[in-house]
Amino acid sequence: MAALVIASRNEHKVEELRQLLADLTIDVLSLRDFPHAPEVEEDGDTFEANALKKARIIAQYTNQAVLADDSGLEVDALGGQPGVHSARFSGEGASDKENNANLLRLMEGVSPKERTARFRCAIALVSPSGDERLVEGVCPGVIIDKPQGSGGFGYDPLFMVPHLGKTFAELSGDEKNSISHRGKALWKALPVIREWLEDGLI
Ligand code: IMP
Repeated sequence: MAALVIASRNEHKVEELRQLLADLTIDVLSLRDFPHAPEVEEDGDTFEANALKKARIIAQYTNQAVLADDSGLEVDALGGQPGVHSARFSGEGASDKENNANLLRLMEGVSPKERTARFRCAIALVSPSGDERLVEGVCPGVIIDKPQGSGGFGYDPLFMVPHLGKTFAELSGDEKNSISHRGKALWKALPVIREWLEDGLI
């Protein structure tokens, strides 16, 4: 069967993507299946640059089609931070809890109207023969002032989706996928994967 490697070791993320790819006749692998794959430094200035760098390196290493995503949170009151630094907002190897505490500290005193934010996700697809595509998804929301909910990962408990009145951490996997930045980006990536399958590129 054709295979697609998700260039991530983050099991939460791989699981979200697996659910979204479930309808395709394709073997979905992750970096867990390639324990010796190179570590890719995410040192780009944009989500797109990081996703493309990861996808290129892992496609070369695995010789398979690769889907790489890079994502993060942009908070308006913080000039778009943490952005590409979302995973290490409170230092290298920081936990979700530490990052959330840092975000809450920086947002102290910011009025409800000024707490707008968005999750952004870039997905890069690279085929074994070097074809490349980039797509992006955005999900708007607001940063609340104390964590709510226990699902998901990362900044989910602080990210409120206004029209639902719930944080990402209070949504089921399906509910989150249907509105999330990653879900929207993957929705755009699916036709490309289908096209590559039909053209025998994968
Ligand atoms: P990366 O795309 O693996 O570099 O992830 C960047 C960081 O952004 C994660 O470690 C999280 O802190 C944050 N992030 C990305 N997507 C989500 C999400 O869906 N929910 C919560 N946090 C997220």
